[in-house]
Amino acid sequence: MCGIVGISAETDVAAEIYDSLIMLQHRGQDAAGISVCNSDDQLNSRKSMGYVRDVFQQRHMDKLSGNYGIGHVRYPTAGGAGKEFAQPMYVNSPYGISLAHNGNLTNSKQLGSELFHAEMRHLRTDSDSEVLLNIFAHELGKQREIYPSEKHIFKAVTKTHIRCDGAYAVIALINGYGMLAFRDNNGIRPLSLGIRKGKNRDEYIVSSEDALFTPLGFEKVRDIDPGEAVFIDKKGNFFSQQCSDNPQKRPCIFEYVYFSRPDSKIDEISVYKARMRMGTKLAGQIKKTRPDHDIDVVIPIPDSSVTAAHQLAVDLNVPYREGFVKNRYIGRTFIMPYQEERKKSVRRKLNILDLEFDGKNVLLVDDSIVRGTTSKKIIEMAREAGAKKVYFASAAPAIKYQNLYGIDMPATAELIASKKDHDEVAKEINADWLIYQTLDDLIDSVREGNPEIKEFETSIFTGEYFTPLIENYLEDLETSRKDELKMQREKTKAKG
Ligand code: AMP
Repeated sequence: MCGIVGISAETDVAAEIYDSLIMLQHRGQDAAGISVCNSDDQLNSRKSMGYVRDVFQQRHMDKLSGNYGIGHVRYPTAGGAGKEFAQPMYVNSPYGISLAHNGNLTNSKQLGSELFHAEMRHLRTDSDSEVLLNIFAHELGKQREIYPSEKHIFKAVTKTHIRCDGAYAVIALINGYGMLAFRDNNGIRPLSLGIRKGKNRDEYIVSSEDALFTPLGFEKVRDIDPGEAVFIDKKGNFFSQQCSDNPQKRPCIFEYVYFSRPDSKIDEISVYKARMRMGTKLAGQIKKTRPDHDIDVVIPIPDSSVTAAHQLAVDLNVPYREGFVKNRYIGRTFIMPYQEERKKSVRRKLNILDLEFDGKNVLLVDDSIVRGTTSKKIIEMAREAGAKKVYFASAAPAIKYQNLYGIDMPATAELIASKKDHDEVAKEINADWLIYQTLDDLIDSVREGNPEIKEFETSIFTGEYFTPLIENYLEDLETSRKDELKMQREKTKAKG
């Protein structure tokens, strides 16, 4: 997962891009970067590994002069985790283009080979974002325009859509020309557009999430459409065009479940309200299957499940209590590379309030179960704290398949529900009762916010992918996401 932002304004934008990246930090903690262009058409950049606040010191910010620019926070989903993978990525020709990408290309291997053998472009990394940047750069350069207009730029986006498969929300900086943003044909990853009045012109923001618009004084205009591109030239003139002949709106449902901030709206659906409805649906399922349940208290596993858990408790008419206190200064446990560390880290990240558990039948609520590490550990903690019975509800259905579109999920073999059925998962995590949201209920919870959306990207639950897959793609991905292999890569990196 990654977070991206771009701002075009009358005066310097780096400080606002920095603030935006802080607000998008939950989307990626591995690396961060900002590139800005100033009125002398000079490009200024800074990127490195780490949290936003660690990457940018005052001395870096002082050099980032420019009135249009882009920023990126990275959470690796494809390619490695070294400093060369930090974004924005840059290519000299044509014009000097910097690019920030959220998503994952499923045909990047094949495109990489085309770039090398047919288009004489050398790639430094195995990052799909570098492939995407070079495909776009090649298509723009091929038009051989000394001064490209929005028409040339949109034509290059159209060609990029034809060549690239997978998910990509993109914001790019074309040196001396302006800022470009586009979203893949299916609109899998989110991208929103905002506006504010400057002294002499309108100023624009494009970002993965719109929660940051209001704090920065922008008003939301709309979500960028699947397949659409918008270009704001360096003077602030706005252009947009549909660049796909087959756009379909199929946003990723996991954004609503887990990734996005509750104060964001994606494709007109409030993440907060979608999570409330997920709680209502879970309550409905409980009332239907066990009308005489004996739940004494509902306890969320903070943070992403809080909204759903609260609504679930209200609908069941059962007390809602905070049974865990989260240490906010620890990264998400998933980021811990290996299983042993992950287990320890759950304990350090969440401390338990024994008094809410002692002698009670508790219903714990999480947004999802991935490997089952968190749920297993938390159920153990609840029992140690004196719970009589421990029930567990997941606001998402069982996760069984790989994510190909920019969410870092482990290898299928490491997903607890990939080979175990419902009862076996309950047994493995030691829950007295396990309640998974049904896929229909999840889709209904989200769709209610925008009934015009016909389909959502739900492949982690169904194994059905919207985009074409090249041979062996799933097998290769499975291997590269195994803990064992990640560990080997780390060792090689350490030696190198
Ligand atoms: P696990 O312990 O592997 O079952 O992970 C479940 C926890 O990870 C849940 O509490 C989720 O909030 C969180 N989670 C779900 N998906 C992801 C992801 N792709 N990256 C990081 N954390 C995640």
